[in-house]
Order: sequence, then structure tokens, then C-alpha cells
Amino acid sequence: MKWSLSFLISVSVLFFSCQHPAGSGKATGGTDPLDLSSHDTSVRPQSNFFLYANGAWLKRTVIPPSQSSWGSFSTLRDSISARLYRILDSISRSTSSVKGSIAQQAGDLFYSAMDSAGIERRGLMPVRPELDSIGNIKNTADLMNEIAAEYKVNHGPFISFYVSADDKNSTLNAAHFDQGGLGLPNRDFYFKKDSASVKIRKGYTDYIRQIFTLTGDHPAEADKKAMAIMELETALAKISKGPVALRDPLANYNKESVASLNKTMPGFKNFLKNLGVNADTVLMGQPAFYRGLYALIRKTPLQTLKTYLCFHVLNDDADYLPHDFVNAKFEFNKLLNGQTQMRERWKRMGSMVDQQLGDAIGQLYVQQYFPPEAKQRINEMVDNILTTYGERIRQLDWMSDSTKQKALVKLQAIVKKVGYPDKWKDYSSVTIARDNIISNLKATTHYAYLRDIHKIGKPVDRSEWYMTPPTVNAYYNPTANDVNFPAGILQPPFYFISGDDAVNYGAIGIGIGHEITHGFDDQGRQFDADGNLKEWWTAEDARKFKARAQKIIDQYNGYIAVDTLHVNGDLTQGENIADNGGTAIAYAAFKKTAQGKGDEKIDGLTPDQRFFLAGAQIWRTKNRPEYQRTLALSDPHSPPMWRINGMFSNMPAFYKAFHVEPTDSMYRPDSLRVKIW
Ligand SMILES: [Zn+2]
Repeated sequence: MKWSLSFLISVSVLFFSCQHPAGSGKATGGTDPLDLSSHDTSVRPQSNFFLYANGAWLKRTVIPPSQSSWGSFSTLRDSISARLYRILDSISRSTSSVKGSIAQQAGDLFYSAMDSAGIERRGLMPVRPELDSIGNIKNTADLMNEIAAEYKVNHGPFISFYVSADDKNSTLNAAHFDQGGLGLPNRDFYFKKDSASVKIRKGYTDYIRQIFTLTGDHPAEADKKAMAIMELETALAKISKGPVALRDPLANYNKESVASLNKTMPGFKNFLKNLGVNADTVLMGQPAFYRGLYALIRKTPLQTLKTYLCFHVLNDDADYLPHDFVNAKFEFNKLLNGQTQMRERWKRMGSMVDQQLGDAIGQLYVQQYFPPEAKQRINEMVDNILTTYGERIRQLDWMSDSTKQKALVKLQAIVKKVGYPDKWKDYSSVTIARDNIISNLKATTHYAYLRDIHKIGKPVDRSEWYMTPPTVNAYYNPTANDVNFPAGILQPPFYFISGDDAVNYGAIGIGIGHEITHGFDDQGRQFDADGNLKEWWTAEDARKFKARAQKIIDQYNGYIAVDTLHVNGDLTQGENIADNGGTAIAYAAFKKTAQGKGDEKIDGLTPDQRFFLAGAQIWRTKNRPEYQRTLALSDPHSPPMWRINGMFSNMPAFYKAFHVEPTDSMYRPDSLRVKIW
């Protein structure tokens, strides 16, 4: 399964302090890890807890022009960017690093990306071979060969191909083929009729036109190409599923023999051979999409298909081409994300190195910025939360004993991964030079492609990570049944090594509970202890789960994401289940600590109040309206305010901590409150 369930989809500062390696259970003198200046005392906590906890911060904070969002995640990311820059700037200055060493590879990749003068000078030359290869396509067979060739280097036209565990045989890797090929975030962006959607489609068409104008096409010719691509992508969107329909792991699981696929789609076998896939069966995520695509390719003029391929090569590489291309792409992205200025080049290119050589830069990062004590203490917290989770499952009043036993087996089988991988990827075969970013990207993506291809049919390596160490995020992987917390998120304001338990359980503790709960959300619950997509629930318990999940869907459907656009309760149900379960369990685990059992106030706040305020502090976030709208249509997470108010308004402990009464907005009648886990 490609998706893994993260704490936050797209997110980024503070310095790690390690003066108190042992947990003290109390905030130690000096600064409170809770930012009390963030509270808005003109808002009652019982009316809108998010605005009470974060209102003053929201009023005084201006989103930086280069950001679509600003808050706990983005400020930490920004700080990590600065650390990565210090590392990369230092190693990229050296021309004497041993060839093939991680310092040489990461340093030279960064150098080539920062060489904007060289990039201007070379113009389109680095992408010329691919554009020429597309130009030479004479028939459908050539076209299919070209698509396969592009998949080996940094491009992914028409489809989505990847290698990961077979959902029903989770110890073995399989080749997966999903729907793909769209330039806009998902199929809905091609059909929605509201003015913002119309503007985005016009902006996308303008962007395509500009890309072709920049390659030297006459404006009329560029216009024709843009229209043809838009028409083709709209046809692709028509045969694609929307984000809610894609949340069904059973519907997405279709093991098909290559021989039979080749009967319905002659040429498919040859395509797989060119792609390097040597298998008798493959997993088709959305078979109807492939049948539709097969027909579409046959009825679309070859010239249009070639134009589509050219555009996507240029679009994929635009950030590494001359400035006019970079700028054209930025202008289009503004419509989706709302920033008014481009992020600094060093930040963008630092992120690129992290994406391409994550285990190289990650090693250098953790050596400097991740003390071993942090790993040990987070491991302890995860264990405490897992133990509490087990107690909660045993006490559930809606689940039968037989399903409970299986849920406990699954819980006990969860593997925790903290900080960074036990073994690093070996990049020694990747050749990185200082003088051509595009050829470097081909080298890194070809390396990733070869790793994938060699995995097909082989045992899954469950020690592998799917986020890099500096990432400010976390995830649960259902086929491995593991939770993963990269070093990046294990620092303030998510985790304070010398902070009190209330704050740490309210911040990273909620995150830990959230990831574990993904193993038991609407999707994750369909995978068993071994990570196999397999029914282990009694029909009656599954029915009861769905009735509870429906209450969560209804609750979040009632919230406004931006303007008049509501939160999509179906799209966000898995994340909302994870939020609600994660918070309830982190709270229960906190109540077992000395501070949780006591009532000693710190800075005038009770232990429980500190727990809830810490939770609200990590979601202290301001999104630009354009970005919030894009997220509402594509992100499975609810907007920050509703994540906090939604989950806390389901918790009796919150009512008690802040004296919430039936007349208050944060109050939900008992019949509407949801408790699943
Ligand atoms: Zn999540």
C-alpha cells in the first residue's frame, strides 16, 4: 500500500536543549514550554478552545510571504532548513571529499542545485535528450517505450507505478499500478464549477502555455498545446477516482495476471518488460482507470500524447531549469497555495537534497542534532502509551471479547521506529557531479528506481523508513504494522526533553497515540497484526465500529474549512479517528504519571489544563485561504482549529479541566460525543 498515515500531510523550530536528560516530570525552572503569551483571554476556552489557546499568537503572527502556512510545524521545518543549510553549505564548499562519500554526494548535489548561473547558461540543454526522444515517437509502441523510460528517471506520466508490500501477503514486495498522470491535485479540480476552481484551471492552462512559449513555440502554437493537454488531462480525470473513493483498501486491491492483462490491453506485457518489471502478477489499484487509459491512448492523436509527455518533463524539472521556468511554475502554484514570494533557493534546494539523498544528509543531521537520550525517552513514552492502549481496548464497552483479543494481538505486534533507520541506504553507486543538477536528479531517481525494481517478489525489509530523519512528521504503515517518528519531530514544540509530562503527553504524546490509532482507523483496522489486508473483526463489531465512525463523519462535516467550504467528513475520517483516539489514549497514559495523578499547578495551570493547552499549541497554525481551500479538497487531515476543537469537545476530561457547561459552544451532548478507542 502506497499510503501511509501521517500526523500531518505537508508541513516545519526551535533549538534542542538537552540539559536535563532524565525525565523530571515537572517543568524545570525558567521558561515554560507552554507559550502563555499565545493565549487570547478575550475568548472563553469553553467557547472556542483553539482561539483561546492560540488567539494572541494568531493575531500577532503574519505568515511570511514565501509560506502558505505558518505555525508549529512550519517554524520547526524552517529551523531544520537552516541546520541543513549549515551542513550543506559546509560540505559543498569542499572539492576534496572522497568521490562517492556521502559528503561528496550531498555536497555536490547541493552545489549543482545552487549553481543558478550555470543553470541559466545551459538553458534547455539538460532536458533536450528527453524532449528529442519524445519527438521521435512514431507510434503507440514507441510511446509506451518512452513512458517506461521516463519512469526510470524522475518522471511519472499517465500512471503511478511503485513497489511495496503486497497488501494481502505483506512480507513480499509487489509491483503496484495506480491511477495517475494529473497535473492538478486530484480529479475534482478538473470538474468543480466554483469560481476558485475555474481560476485554478485557467491558471494551469496559462502555465502550460507559458512553458511551451519558453521553449520557443509561437504563442498560437503554445495555446493549442495547452488546450489539448487540458482536454487530455480532463479525460484522465474522468476515468480517475476521487480522494474519498480511494480510501477503500479492498477496492484498491486487484491482483491480476500479466497474461490476462495483456489480453485486455495488448502491449502491456511488453510495457512491463521495458519498465523492468519481471513478474507474473501485478497489483492494479484501479483497474477501470487502466482500461480507460488504454482506450484513451488509442483514440487520442499521437501528437497530443507527445505534447503531454513534453510538458510533464518540463514541469517535473521546472525548478531546476532557468529562472523563467521556475517563476512560471511558482506563479501557477500561488493559485493553489497563496504564497506571494518564492521560498529562498537554499531552502528549496536543501529540501531537494533531503528528498533525493535523505539517508546521506540524514546521517549528518542526526550526528549533530539528535541526542541519544531523546531516542530513549521517546521509546519509553511509546511503550507507556501502548500499555495504556491495551488497557483501553480491554475496557471497550462496544467490542466483543473475540475481536478485542485480536486487536490486542495487533497492538502488541506494533513495531516502533524512533529517530532514524538502523541501517542507512548505500548510495555508493550514485554518481553526483558538481555541474549539472538535472543529470544528478536522473542519477538519484534512477538509483531509487533500481532499488524498487530489485525488490519485486522479494521479502519486504521492514527496517526501511519512508520519511527522512529531518522530517517534521510521523507515520503508521499498515502493511508493516509499525509507527515511525523521525528525529525532526522529536524536539520543541512537540517534545521538550526537560518539559513536564503534561506538556509532552499533550504534544508528542497525542502524536504517538494518533499514529498507533491509525492501525485501528477505518482503513488500518482492515489490516491484521501481520500487516495483511484480512478481515479479523466479527461482523457485529465491524458494524458497531462503522456506526461510531459515522458519528465522527457527521461531526466534522459540520465544520467550515474556509469561506463556505465544509470539512469533508468522509475524506478526513481516518485522521479524525486517529486524533480522537490518540488524544484520549495519550491523556489516559498521562494520568498514570506522577504529575497526572497530582494537582500541582505550574504557571497557574493544573496538570490537565497544561495537557490540553500543549495539544492546542502544536496545532497553532495559520493557513492562507488559497492553501486551506486546496487542503480541504485534497488533504485527509481536518483544518487545525477543528482538529483541536473537534477532539477535545468529545472528551469529558476536557469539560472538567475547563468547566465546560451545556450552554457552551465547546459542549456536545452526550449522545453526540464520539468515543471509539
Ligand atoms: Zn494521521
